[in-house]
Amino acid sequence: MTYAVPENPATASHADLDVLAEQLGRAPRGVAGIAARCVCGRPLVVRTLPRLPDGTPFPTTYYLTHPGAVIAASTLETSGLMREMTERLAQDEALAAAYRAAHESYLADREELGHVEEIDGISAGGMPTRVKCLHVLMAHALARPGVNPLGDEVLALAAPMWRRDRCTC
Ligand SMILES: [Zn+2]
Repeated sequence: MTYAVPENPATASHADLDVLAEQLGRAPRGVAGIAARCVCGRPLVVRTLPRLPDGTPFPTTYYLTHPGAVIAASTLETSGLMREMTERLAQDEALAAAYRAAHESYLADREELGHVEEIDGISAGGMPTRVKCLHVLMAHALARPGVNPLGDEVLALAAPMWRRDRCTC
C-alpha cells in the first residue's frame, strides 16, 4: 500500500508521527521534520529540534528511526569498525578534512533549527575527530548523501543487512 507522503516530504505528517512512535516504541519528541524516507515513504531519519520541549539540549539533529537500519548500525558497531575508522582519521589527512567538513555541515543544518548555547560547536557521533556512534553517521548519510564520507561508508557496509532502496517496513 502506498504511504501518504506530505506534499513537502521534509514535513512530518500525523501518519509520520504515528510511524515514528511505532519505530521508537515511544512518543517522538521535538520533531522538526523527516530528513530521509524509505522508498515506501515511511520515515528513516527524523530531523529533531536542538532543544526538546522539556528544555533538554539535543545535539543529534538526524536521528535514525528505522528498526532495520538501527539493527544494521548496531551490528556494525560490534565489528570494531568505529575503532578502525577513528584510527584512519588520525592517519589520513584528506579523510580527516572531509569528516571535519561533515561536522561543520551538521552544525550548520542544526543552526537552521535554532541556536542552543549548551551544545554550540558540538555535533554528534564523535565528529569531528572520532567515530563513536554509527547510528548517527548512518542517519547523517541518509539525510545528506555525499556529505559525510564515513557515514556513506557505513551505509555501503550495511547494505547486505539493510538498504534504503529496498523496503523492509
Ligand atoms: Zn518502507
